[in-house]
Amino acid sequence: MKKLVMALFFMIVGVTTMLSAQSLPVNIAHRGASGYLPEHTLPAKALAYGLGADFLEQDVVLTKDDQPLIIHDIHLDTVTDVATKFPERKREDGRYYALDFTLAEIKSLKACERFDPASGTAVFPGRFPMWKSDFRLHTLQEEIELIQGLNKSTGKNIGIYPEIKDPAWHREQGRDITKIVLRVLSEYGYKTADDNIYLQCFDFSELKRIRNELKCELKLIQLIEEDCDIAEVASYATGIGPWIKQIITGLDKQGKPVISDLVERAHQHKLMVHPYTLRIDALPEGVTPDALLDVLFNQVKIDGIFSDFPDVSRDFIKNRVKR
Ligand code: CA
Repeated sequence: MKKLVMALFFMIVGVTTMLSAQSLPVNIAHRGASGYLPEHTLPAKALAYGLGADFLEQDVVLTKDDQPLIIHDIHLDTVTDVATKFPERKREDGRYYALDFTLAEIKSLKACERFDPASGTAVFPGRFPMWKSDFRLHTLQEEIELIQGLNKSTGKNIGIYPEIKDPAWHREQGRDITKIVLRVLSEYGYKTADDNIYLQCFDFSELKRIRNELKCELKLIQLIEEDCDIAEVASYATGIGPWIKQIITGLDKQGKPVISDLVERAHQHKLMVHPYTLRIDALPEGVTPDALLDVLFNQVKIDGIFSDFPDVSRDFIKNRVKR
């Protein structure tokens, strides 16, 4: 009898722990620990891993030789020295496209903090100094190997969160970026809804194609910039990724946050909500990270957040989230 009671006790404790672990929101390192090191470099990813991210984000574009490159834009000139190394290789619009360079050429470039190519000044002046140390760009495969390698050496299971960038533009250029990304993901074991990955895209028809035509079983996140047909999105996606501003639309006369019904509607359709982006160095005047996260996690009950400062979001999720 005593044994049975003990067994039941442990079963209940086990189930309760499992439930609470499942319901904790996820901490997604936006472009790595990009608040501290140049975005989308392997050091920024390793730091994010060490600071306690649950997922590391990858933005993916193609190179001339069809390699999936981790970079936020289809252009190279906002985060590398391409304009000084290959001045004659710009297009008519004055921009340097990753698609016009081989991976070997891109690997010869120095990467640094995001800057305005017209003025050469940093977008976030308080972050890592420009052109210091030695940073390079890398492929999706190299980043997955870093994360899976760290998962092996630490015993953790940290996930990946790739975004397919501008699939329509890639198609105009004669490339099918989605098929290349899905092939690499599959080669590294990301195939089903149970695998530790979310795949994201802003392009509605591409994400639908990924689910319906390409028969992809992964968890899919529809990124959005404005309101959309939530019921329609729920027919193929696992969740949405809106701007924080689409959730907290402003402050009322008493200074209280004005909350839209977006998260409520998404949850009614069983969609997760992972908004972007926590930037503690770019908050509206008078707003603290703590106050913002308290509204998002404890009032609106979002399911995760993209964060440039994965240590700040981790601390909040660990110590302050009430679930
Ligand atoms: Ca992204």
